[in-house]
Amino acid sequence: MVVLKKALFIDRDGTIIKDIPYSADAGRIEIYHDAVDLMKRYSGEGYLIVIITNQSGINRGYFTVQELKIFNDVLIHYLQNMGVHIDAVYFCPHTPEENCRCRKPETGMVTAAATDLNIDIKNSVMAGDREDMDGGLAERLGMRFILMKHEQSE
Ligand SMILES: [Mg+2]
Repeated sequence: MVVLKKALFIDRDGTIIKDIPYSADAGRIEIYHDAVDLMKRYSGEGYLIVIITNQSGINRGYFTVQELKIFNDVLIHYLQNMGVHIDAVYFCPHTPEENCRCRKPETGMVTAAATDLNIDIKNSVMAGDREDMDGGLAERLGMRFILMKHEQSE
């Protein structure tokens, strides 16, 4: 029998880190402490921590998948040093015009993570800075949504 786990799905840009549009420069990472606290709290309650991030900068040609992965690895390392373990990262490389199934508020990244990691979506939580993207995704899947507003957010 597979035991399903709960997860905190969390947006990256504008939520965990300051949003610098289409940047893959790890030297510019600025981490928000309220996001760190949120991830620590959920992790302490047994939730997996899964980053769910739209990265259309890839298919717009601003950076490569490899550059994105290096950036994410640096971020994961910083978070680890702050006491937060990231269980997985899912990213969507597509532009809106590609009409994919993964770009938030579409649900493909979360459903893929749920399959890969045996996650109980309905009892999981989505946190993000965008009501339309992150909140929209949560609503489509019947997940609770936590709005994380920062000065830099729209
Ligand atoms: Mg965001």
